[in-house]
Amino acid sequence: MIDGKALARDLRARVAADVAALGRAPGLATVLVGDDPASAIYVANKRKLCVAAGMRDLHRQLPADVTQEELERLVEELNADDQVDGILLQLPLPRHLDSRAVIDRIDPTKDVDGLTARNAGLLAQGRTGLQPCTPAGVLLLLQEAGVPLSGSHAAVVGRSDLVGRPVAQLLLSANATVTMCHSRTRDLAAETSRADVVVAAAGVPRLLGAQHVKPGAAVIDVGIHRTDTGLCGDVDFDAVSPLAGWITPVPGGVGPMTIASLLHNTVRAAAARTEVVR
Ligand code: NAD
Repeated sequence: MIDGKALARDLRARVAADVAALGRAPGLATVLVGDDPASAIYVANKRKLCVAAGMRDLHRQLPADVTQEELERLVEELNADDQVDGILLQLPLPRHLDSRAVIDRIDPTKDVDGLTARNAGLLAQGRTGLQPCTPAGVLLLLQEAGVPLSGSHAAVVGRSDLVGRPVAQLLLSANATVTMCHSRTRDLAAETSRADVVVAAAGVPRLLGAQHVKPGAAVIDVGIHRTDTGLCGDVDFDAVSPLAGWITPVPGGVGPMTIASLLHNTVRAAAARTEVVR
């Protein structure tokens, strides 16, 4: 069992040490639009851990009926504000808003979610930029657990800009041979059951069962779903855990690493901006 909570705690401690060494408190502006309860919980956790790591919480809350123009104006304001080192736009946005257009406005040097076209392009070319938090957390979990990646066969289930695509890019950079699976993949089990590493990010509760996993494979479950019987992931944990070599639980796997990666990106962004100012 890969203990995401413990690994995230270690990473946050390293971030706190980096913040202390920086000599100034980096500022993180989380932007929450509307009152979706799940998003509110995610943002509250990010803010709490941002402060615990010695950073400044510069949260901005907007009403659900905010216009595209108002939201884009706020992003421009945060781009221009020297106190702000990182901007995190909590997704999803209410339906009337175009999230891609808002993300495109974020200064790539403050894009601590790694979602701008510039940072996505750098990642696709295997170059250094700010990497999306959940994918960066997935790679750290695999590396810290000692899962061999170079030369391995990895299957990624899901191809979103937020998770699947960047996870595949990071695995490729780690020298894995990567198969990307998605909703049109003809035979999902045939693809994933050949893989040494399976990353599940389809957003479908318990999509992957025993028939999807090769004995001894590493299984990283990004999904998170609230069900009548509690939280679950995209992997049927009870069916898969007896045969997996490594597996992440839900909760306590990828989720905590996402926040720790966000804090890591924020201190990196602050350090890079400090260099520029000097
Ligand atoms: P998304 O809906 O944007 O993308 C889902 C992807 O899965 C799509 O590319 C789709 O083609 C693919 N897919 C859907 N059904 C499939 C199927 N039956 N077989 C194969 N592929 C299928 O979702 P997302 O934003 O990438 O998030 C995925 C999951 O991860 C969600 O459950 C989300 O809540 C969770 N998530 C967790 C964290 C975290 O910190 N733990 C962060 C982000 C997302």
